[in-house]
Amino acid sequence: MSEAGQAQNDAPPDSIHRGDTSPDAVLRDAVARARRSPFYEAHLAGHRCERIADLAALPLTFKQHLLDASPYGMLAVPATSAWHYHESSGTTGQPISTWAGLEEIRRMGRIVHERVPELDEATTLLNRFPLFAPVSFVFEEALRRAVACHIAAGNLSWDVPFDRALGFIERLSATALSSLPLEPILLRELALLQGKRLRDVFAPLRVVFAGGAVLPPALRRAIEADTDARVVEIYGSNETLLLGVSCTHGRLHLCTDLLRPEILDPKTYTPVAVGEHGILTVTSLVHETMPLVRYLTGDLVRLLDGPCACGDSRPTAEVLGRYDERIEIDGRQCMPFDVLDAGYAFTNKLGSRIFFTLVRKRGLTMLVESERPGTARDLRAERELQDRIGVPVTVEYLRTGDVLDRTAMFRGPKIYKPTEISDWRRPGRKSISIMEALLEWPHFDVRTVLRIAAREIRSRRRRRRFVREDAR
Ligand SMILES: [Zn+2]
Repeated sequence: MSEAGQAQNDAPPDSIHRGDTSPDAVLRDAVARARRSPFYEAHLAGHRCERIADLAALPLTFKQHLLDASPYGMLAVPATSAWHYHESSGTTGQPISTWAGLEEIRRMGRIVHERVPELDEATTLLNRFPLFAPVSFVFEEALRRAVACHIAAGNLSWDVPFDRALGFIERLSATALSSLPLEPILLRELALLQGKRLRDVFAPLRVVFAGGAVLPPALRRAIEADTDARVVEIYGSNETLLLGVSCTHGRLHLCTDLLRPEILDPKTYTPVAVGEHGILTVTSLVHETMPLVRYLTGDLVRLLDGPCACGDSRPTAEVLGRYDERIEIDGRQCMPFDVLDAGYAFTNKLGSRIFFTLVRKRGLTMLVESERPGTARDLRAERELQDRIGVPVTVEYLRTGDVLDRTAMFRGPKIYKPTEISDWRRPGRKSISIMEALLEWPHFDVRTVLRIAAREIRSRRRRRRFVREDAR
C-alpha cells in the first residue's frame, strides 16, 4: 500500500471496543448499543446479556420486526448521524429501512481490501452494483484504501447498458468487476455476439466479485473459465451489510469480527450441528447505527467443517440462498442453488451457458439454448441433472436467442440530460417534447422486427402449452 493509501486510512479496527476486548465483553457492549434503539429497548427489556452463554436466551429478531420498525425504530443513533440510508423491499412490497454508519462501512472495506490480494496491484474496478445497494460503498472504501480507481456504473442506471459496461472493461482495462453472478455470463454472450474473442475482451480482468445472489460451484467455474479471473464471493444483505468474503482457496469465510453467527433450524430455531443446514442468524458486534441482535437473515447456510488451507481461522460456510425460495414438489425439496449448480454443469456439456428454469406443478422445466436444438438431447445427462437437483426435471432444447435475446441488450433507450430546448438547426435529433429529448429509442430494420416477432410467437405458444399441461 502506498503512503497516500496509509494517510487515507482511518481509526484502528477495535476503536469502539475500549477497554475489555474479550469475546464476552464485545458481545455485552454490542447488545448494550442495540438497546439504544427504540425497538431493542422494548424487545430486550428484562433480558440480560453479560456473556456469550446468555445470547441464546435473547429473543430472536425477524424480518417482520424490521418492517414494522421502519423507518426509524431500529436506529441506535439520531437519523441525521447515520452515514447512509438504504431500503429493501419486503415480500409485500413495503420497504424495510436500513441504516449504515461510516465506521462500520470502513471496517468492511478494510476486510475486502485485506482479503483480496489482487487489490494491492494497480486496480480499476467496474462496479455494477447500484449505489442504492450499500455494498457499493463497501467497495468504495476498499478501493479508497487500495488507492484504486472506481467506475461506479450500477447495472440499474440506464446510461450504462451492458455494451457500455463491456466497453469499460476493454477501453479502460478494468482489472476488476463487481456484479451479480449472472452479469459476467451476459457480458460473455454480448462479446460473442459482437464477434469478439473472450480471451481478448476479458484479458485485463484479474478478479470478479460476485454477490447479491447464490454462487454455486458450477457457475463459479463457468465465470472463471470465461474470464480467466479469480471469482471472489461477496456475501451480505442490506440489513446486515457484509457477512462474508471468499478466500484464495475459494471458501467463503464469515466475517465473525463483524457479527456473531448462529445457524438455527428453520422450524424450531434451535442450533443445528456443524455441517447441517440452517438459517444464518447474526448479532452485530461492531455496528453502531442499526445494530441487530439474533437477526434471522432468512438465508439457508451450512458451516463447513475443518480449517481452510488459506490459514484464515474464521469459519467457512456455504450459502444456499433464501429459505423462502426453496422449491418443494411432491414432498421433495431443492434450493435454487441446486438448480443453478446442476444447470450450469449441464449446459457446460452442451457448450452453452444459457438456460431458464420454470418451477411448475409436477416438476421443473429447464429451457436450454443449444446451437443444434434438434439433436442436442442427451438422456444420460438429463438423468444426471434430475438426480443432482432431486426433483423431476424435463429439458427442452431451444434455438440460440429464445432464452436470452442478446440483441435486447442493445435495445434499451439512450438517455440524455433533461432539457426544455431542442435546437433543430443543428444536425441530429429534432425533439418535440421533454420526453423525446430525454429518451431516444433505437430504430430497427424489418428483418430485426420480424425476428423479434417470430421469437415472441414461439414464446407465447410455449407458455400456452405449459399452462394447458399444468391445468390437467
Ligand atoms: Zn480460506
